[in-house]
Amino acid sequence: ADVLVRARDLEVSYLTDSGALPAVRGVSFTLRRGRTLAVVGESGSGKSTLLRAVGTILPRGQARITAGILAIEGENVDAMSATRLQQLRRSHIGVVFQDASSALNPVMTVGAQLIEAILSGNPMPKAQARSRAVELLTAVQIADPKQRLDQYPHQFSGGMKQRIVIAIALAQDPDILLADEPTSALDVTIQQQILVLLRRMQLENRMAMMLVTHDLGLVSRYADDVAVIYGGRIVETGSVEDVFRHPLHPYTQALRAAAPTLHGAGEGKRLMAITGDPPMLGQFPPGCSFAPRCSRAQGRARCQTQAPAARAVGGQLVACHFAEER
Ligand code: ATP
Ligand code: MG
Repeated sequence: ADVLVRARDLEVSYLTDSGALPAVRGVSFTLRRGRTLAVVGESGSGKSTLLRAVGTILPRGQARITAGILAIEGENVDAMSATRLQQLRRSHIGVVFQDASSALNPVMTVGAQLIEAILSGNPMPKAQARSRAVELLTAVQIADPKQRLDQYPHQFSGGMKQRIVIAIALAQDPDILLADEPTSALDVTIQQQILVLLRRMQLENRMAMMLVTHDLGLVSRYADDVAVIYGGRIVETGSVEDVFRHPLHPYTQALRAAAPTLHGAGEGKRLMAITGDPPMLGQFPPGCSFAPRCSRAQGRARCQTQAPAARAVGGQLVACHFAEER
C-alpha cells in the first residue's frame, strides 16, 4: 500500500458556456508514500486543476473528471460514496494553498481553528485536543504555543500564518499533503524555512506530497520526482535528478535554461519567459501542444498533426517525437 495516488489517462474539464473544456489531459502518474512529486509549468498549464482533482476538491459544478482513472489509497474516486469522500478529505488529505490569510478565519482564534480541525470526525476530550494543538504548533516551530493558541490570525506574520495553515493541514495526520505554491506569497528567506519545514514534516510522517511551484530551484532542493506539465499534459516526468540533469523535452530544456535558481543565483525567482504563449483552454493545437513554440518542430508534419505519447527515454518518461535529438 505504498502507492497513495494513481492517475491513469486522467482528464479534468471545466464546464463552460462552450461545453466541457479539458484543462488536464491524459495525465498518468503514481505518488508513493514518503515521496514528493513536484508539478511545474507555466501559468495556466493545469497544475492547480490537477492538484484539486487529486484532493477531490474541484469546484463543484465548475469542473469534473471527464475521463481516465484516479485512485486514492487504492480506491477509485469515481466509486466512492459521499461519506467516504468526506472522510478522505478530512483525514487522509491535507492541503496548503498559496494564500494563508484567506485560509484562516480572521474572527476565530488560531487555537479554536486548530482544535476544530483536530476534532472534526475524531472526537476526544477538549483538554486532549488542546494539547494536540500545542504539539502541532510546536511541530511547525511556533514559539510560546500555549499563549499563541488564544491569539487571532492578524497577530501573526505571513510566514507564521502559513505555518498555522500547515499545522491545520496536518491535524488529522494525513497520508497525502497537497501544496499549491505554498510559499510564493512569502519573502525568500521565509520561503526556504517553510519548504524545509514541509519537507521535514513530509519525511517524518511518511506522507506523500504533491508540490506545485513555478520555482525550479525549490524543486531541485525539496522534491524527489517532477512532472513538467504543458497545455494540460505531462510532457516529461521522472526523478528530479534525471529530468533536470538531462532534460529531454524541448519545453523542459527551455524551462531549465530560463531558471536562474538552478545555477545557484537568483534564489526564489520565478521562471523567466519563454517566447510565445501557452495554449488557451479549448484551443489546443491538433498535434503536439508545444509545437507552435518549439524549434525542433519547425517544418515537421508529425509534430503538427500527431500528439506524442509519453515513452521511456533515459531514466524518464517524455512525450516528444524527437526526444532522442539533442
Ligand atoms: P497558475 O500557475 O497561474 O496557478 P495553473 O497551472 O495552476 O496556473 P490552472 O489554474 O489549473 O493553471 O488552470 C488551467 C486552465 O484552466 C487555464 O487555462 C485556466 O484559465 C482554466 N481555468 C481555471 N479555472 C477555471 C474555471 N473555474 N473555469 C474555467 N476555466 C478555468
Ligand atoms: Mg495554479
